[in-house]
Amino acid sequence: MTIRHVVSVSGGKDSAATLLIALERFSRESIVPIFCDTGNEHQAVYEYLDYLELALDIKITRLKANFDAEIASKRTFIARDRRTRREYDTVPVFEADGKTPVLKRDGRGQVVLNKKGEPVQKERKTGGGRLVRWTNKAKRRALAALHPSGNPFLDLCMWKGRFPSRKAQFCTEQLKRDIAVSFQLELIAQGYTVVSWQGVRRDESVKRRDALKFEVVGGGLYIYRPLVEWSAADVFAYCTARNLQPNPLYRQGMTRVGCMYCINARKEEIREVAVRFPEHPARLAKWEEIVSQCSKRGFSTFFHKVDDLSGSPPSIYSRCKMETVIEWSRTTRGGKQFSLLEQLDVPTACSSAYGLCE
Ligand code: SF4
Repeated sequence: MTIRHVVSVSGGKDSAATLLIALERFSRESIVPIFCDTGNEHQAVYEYLDYLELALDIKITRLKANFDAEIASKRTFIARDRRTRREYDTVPVFEADGKTPVLKRDGRGQVVLNKKGEPVQKERKTGGGRLVRWTNKAKRRALAALHPSGNPFLDLCMWKGRFPSRKAQFCTEQLKRDIAVSFQLELIAQGYTVVSWQGVRRDESVKRRDALKFEVVGGGLYIYRPLVEWSAADVFAYCTARNLQPNPLYRQGMTRVGCMYCINARKEEIREVAVRFPEHPARLAKWEEIVSQCSKRGFSTFFHKVDDLSGSPPSIYSRCKMETVIEWSRTTRGGKQFSLLEQLDVPTACSSAYGLCE
């Protein structure tokens, strides 16, 4: 049985430590580090990968998703779309007292139950509804813009006609997970047993708190997460003890390394990036325009919902588009007040959230 240890490298501290552990335990020939390039990364990530290759004397395989075929079939779909279905807003129906809900019944008069076994309230259509199909104007607009750009993140969003969100985090699936799994399955098809090394820590997030150290996926695929019990400080200490420098982004206020922005970026991160690397929000603002052209409703924003944006903006688009979100990130107290201190905060030195500045 020939084993290949496929280490997913992201350019961050955890994956760098994971790669170090793999190199300490197994032969160099059996280790295959991979990097799934989203196309939404900071230049420092690519430079750090070059540094890792030099420092650890190992080649990192760069993988990139390609959506040319999906975009081609989406173009055909839009051009041919002739649907006439209308979509209506609905309102719940109450008895004459205005309080008692009227229950929904099927053709035999039985009360309809939802998946939890609870009765469903009757609803009625309101308004004139709207056509679900692409209008000719929207078709012309989308077909003019919908061409592969060669950037995986942008192409994915153009194909979907929207940006990913916390609830629909298709970026991770399509740009990272699927690409890595395909690569591993190819190795298995070549006769290797694959151990997928992942730099995941339980204390990173609620979702990861139950992460297992070892998993048998089946079909010759195993998952190993050597860092599950480690803290961020352990990771930095481990790399430092072996003279491996962290990604310089950590010294510039970033708590994580990867997409810039990530759709899950916090308010402080949004502000920090806008101040230090304004070219990234500027690029994403351009992407918003392009993806909007490819969207049926004519607009799409990178950040979907910012709860405490102030004022009463005229539309969801103007409320969530990049420049509004950047403005909001510079405010304090729920977005209602600009902070003079934050305006004066010019980044000159290390502001790492991990205390990397000794
Ligand atoms: S979740 Fe964030 S880091 Fe991951 S692919 Fe999406 S935008 Fe990038």
